[in-house]
Amino acid sequence: MAKLKTAIVLGATCAGCDVAILDLNEKIFEVDDLCEFVFWPTAMDFKIDDLLALEDGEVDIGIYHGAIRTSEDLEMAEILRKKAKVVVAFGACANFGGIPSLDNLPYDQSLFDLVYEQVPSMDNPQGTVPLEIIELKSGDELTLPKMLKDAGALNSVIDVDYYVPGCPPMVPLIEKVVDVLKKFSETGTLPPKGTVIAGEGTLCEECGREKPEQISYHAFFSPQETKKIDPDKCLIPQGIICMGPATRSGCGALCTKMNVGCRGCMGPTVKVKDHGLKMISALTSLLEVDTEEGMTEEQLEKIVQRIPDPLGTFYRFTYGSSLISKLHSDKEDK
Ligand code: SF4
Ligand code: SF4
Ligand code: SF4
Repeated sequence: MAKLKTAIVLGATCAGCDVAILDLNEKIFEVDDLCEFVFWPTAMDFKIDDLLALEDGEVDIGIYHGAIRTSEDLEMAEILRKKAKVVVAFGACANFGGIPSLDNLPYDQSLFDLVYEQVPSMDNPQGTVPLEIIELKSGDELTLPKMLKDAGALNSVIDVDYYVPGCPPMVPLIEKVVDVLKKFSETGTLPPKGTVIAGEGTLCEECGREKPEQISYHAFFSPQETKKIDPDKCLIPQGIICMGPATRSGCGALCTKMNVGCRGCMGPTVKVKDHGLKMISALTSLLEVDTEEGMTEEQLEKIVQRIPDPLGTFYRFTYGSSLISKLHSDKEDK
């Protein structure tokens, strides 16, 4: 049986998605039996010319991880789409824009100065900052990729066939991908286009913690501030923010099992249009529902102000595909 020609292309990525593939342990031998890697720069010394040298449509499976952040990410995504019969968005960054897309927020120069000059760990006496064009000693110029106006998901720039969410995708999900590839190699059949290789329901359904009939909370805490977390009861009434009600299942509730609120790396369920808005709406409707009447606006606001970094909390992985990111971008264009 001929091996599937496979290309793994990197966008704005931390390469944790590559490490997750290697975490397959002995199943990695099945990958080796199934796939001939024609491009995977993290694993071998491939250059862009190796990908360009392939015929259009010659790659059977193209996997892309990382967000679309620079002109180079965009170029690589477009090349992959030309070369690959099937394109898979792999990981939260490729699925939703991920952490790189938090950069779409309207930061001003002060953040740039903070990062390159003021943070205590920065040792930069010459005030060196990133440049778009670097002059080399030879007199030549090296042009760096341009930052795009906004970072986004892979499907904001090319057509995507399948989605594997998670930051990074968990081993059981990658094992499912290997099984899909095996079936494809043996029978030539693939799941319907657009399939998300993950669960269908919400994380709450697989979490297993007991939810009271009426959820209400009175304050927010970080897990380290909470004296004792009940390991069997839902985290929200215990004052710990958990994105579970709006998040897609499939990770095995890895974080809530460890008494940590879900941060939403699997992205929204199919019924949720905007991950963060859904959670903000859910949490604000549960705030002090049992004692709300006796409380002043100021008291309620004080509780809400305890949420650290609200955008990072509610949109950690999905800002790039959120409605507010789009609204902000449209407004800037006008
Ligand atoms: S999804 Fe997570 S692990 Fe994968 S590239 Fe993005 S940040 Fe890294
Ligand atoms: S909100 Fe979080 S802790 Fe509560 S049931 Fe859902 S996933 Fe579990
Ligand atoms: S519990 Fe939430 S943040 Fe943790 S792995 Fe699952 S989806 Fe991701």
